[in-house]
Amino acid sequence: APAETPQVVIDAHGLPYLDPKLPVRKRVADLLGRMSLAEKAGQMTQAERGAVGTGADVATYALGSLLSGGGSTPTPNTPAAWAKMTDGFQLRARATRFQIPLIYGVDAVHGHNNLVGATVMPHNIGIGATRDPALAERTGAVTAAEVRATGVPWDFAPCLCVSRDERWGRSYESFGEDPALVESMETVVQGLQGRANGADLRRNDKVLATAKHFVGDGGTEYGSSTTGTYKIDQGVTKVTRQELEAVHLAPFRTAVDRGVGTVMPSYSSLDVLGDGQGPVKMHARADMINGVLKGRMGFGGFVISDWNAIDQLPGDYPAHVRTAVDAGVDMMMVPYGYKEFSSTLADEVKAGRVTERRIDDAVSRILTQKFRLGLFEHPYADTAGAAAIGSPAHRAVARAAAAESQVLLKNSGGLLPLKKSQKVYVAGSNADDIGNQSGGWTVTWQGSSGNITPGTTILQGMREAGGHVTYSKDASAPTAGYDVGVVVVGETPYAEGVGDVGNGHELTLSAADQAAVDKVCAAMKCAVLIVSGRPQLIGDRLGRIDALVASWLPGTEGGGVADVLYGSRPFTGQLPVTWPRSAAQLPINVGDSAYDPQFPYGWGLTTRTRVPHGGEAALRALAKAAAAAERAGAGRVGRELVTEARLIVQEKVGERIDAAVSGPFADADHLLLTGHYGKAVRKLTQAYRAA
Ligand code: BGC
Repeated sequence: APAETPQVVIDAHGLPYLDPKLPVRKRVADLLGRMSLAEKAGQMTQAERGAVGTGADVATYALGSLLSGGGSTPTPNTPAAWAKMTDGFQLRARATRFQIPLIYGVDAVHGHNNLVGATVMPHNIGIGATRDPALAERTGAVTAAEVRATGVPWDFAPCLCVSRDERWGRSYESFGEDPALVESMETVVQGLQGRANGADLRRNDKVLATAKHFVGDGGTEYGSSTTGTYKIDQGVTKVTRQELEAVHLAPFRTAVDRGVGTVMPSYSSLDVLGDGQGPVKMHARADMINGVLKGRMGFGGFVISDWNAIDQLPGDYPAHVRTAVDAGVDMMMVPYGYKEFSSTLADEVKAGRVTERRIDDAVSRILTQKFRLGLFEHPYADTAGAAAIGSPAHRAVARAAAAESQVLLKNSGGLLPLKKSQKVYVAGSNADDIGNQSGGWTVTWQGSSGNITPGTTILQGMREAGGHVTYSKDASAPTAGYDVGVVVVGETPYAEGVGDVGNGHELTLSAADQAAVDKVCAAMKCAVLIVSGRPQLIGDRLGRIDALVASWLPGTEGGGVADVLYGSRPFTGQLPVTWPRSAAQLPINVGDSAYDPQFPYGWGLTTRTRVPHGGEAALRALAKAAAAAERAGAGRVGRELVTEARLIVQEKVGERIDAAVSGPFADADHLLLTGHYGKAVRKLTQAYRAA
């Protein structure tokens, strides 16, 4: 507990809800029965820390929650200052009549990314590329430990968007384009929360997770934004009922089964073809939030709105409030409008336009999570874990994730891995930039280039690996004497906006990046690493590049990238999204009828050593064995057998990827993820024959 004492102490000791031995259900009922309407409205209100000053309003308005929006950080931005800040607000909350603790939330979407010095994980698109659920869980566990050690028990992550169009600026927050892949990565929920029944939430290294954004955020149409600012983000998702269920809802079903504590609706509108409603903002869709999420799926946690999202609903302000509350939103993220929200809500209840029953349901849901988190017993930061923030052990997890996320798309003549004896010329805008390799949602909301937080750049990682490296950012004078060039190019950070799309180049490298690639690749054998939140169109330039790597946004541990470059770990990553040939193909996804991408979904060469194979006969044997593994329920064996088959196909295909190969290859990865091992190998055999 902090050293200062609250100004007002009302001893609520002795009341049943304070008894940790009572079941949560009883504690909630007892507390709820004592609360006034204003106190209930307060519980449903979340304000931004920057809006409440030192926090007097927390007590005045009996606020239930505060958040740090992206980059809203204390000064100095240190673990100790975070703990002091959250404790300070908690003191205010504890000074209210019933001492109901606040629940503080942050967007720790790839590690505790707001905090300087935290371990920054690869963004989700890279995690999807690892195809490693156990590793995804470990990244969640590290994130949770670092977040909770700063007094924050709630994380607005993971994003379960199934990204269907790379032009969407939040593509990197997605594990991939295939719902089966997204579902397989939801082990991250257990990493964050611990056991699915919530029994671990009281631990000082676990946080409540948020499945977001419900539902269809990754499926919005190009150009259909209603705000005018964004081209795709916050737009309309137009889908058939069947596509909605299979593509966008499926990951939320899994999250509910895994016990996720909160769900955030999407800013976007949903237009289910044939249901007669037309496009309706998700925060207003009672059929989806009350009906599907809380009803059919049985979600028992609480629903938190997105930032100011209710302001986008039709009608006047009281209508915004009624619509969202009645649709099933339990807590409103009203960062600066918290007074207006809580008083309007109370007025609407008094006037009988919102039922008290609905309010009681919302508050019960919120209090339930606060009890499960143990906040009534331990409201203040337990900083015992703070020493582990950014520790070597935590960074080792991020480094492994960075290494496993690297997807080797092309490797002519086995250029990679590099040998330490080789003289390497390193160039490009993203070779030596922690900010660029971390992307958006890092220290600040938008992220930024440069030395924004401690970590290892890709260049530093290569040097630490013992590489014989010369560096020139702009590739000046790539003259003779080098064995290999490594050009690291890609995007600069952005969040929620569309990034480069619409600013002159659509998913293409900048002119400087193109020049660097061309200069180096003309002068020597070259490997190109693309550090970006989504595929970049490289078209014919591919012919001039010997090795190509999709590095995604690997985070602070560039050593992981160096590990695969120098072969201390093999490349094993697989594309989490389809890599298009041209802008004309967008959007392009696994399962599309005309599917002829540059690299299919699931593609990824490996540098792992393997025994030479026997061609089609070997594939036949693998298909049999995989089908047997499937029948026996031996998932791990099944997956291994499919991987072997994949490698056989990749060896034969090499650089001759066309539509006949791509379709079956991509389908095989989907079959693998859904546990159809025998069929997956048969699909791969089809790709093999076509090659
Ligand atoms: C984003 C959410 C985020 C929230 C709070 C919104 O702009 O859409 O993903 O959780 O801000 O920072």
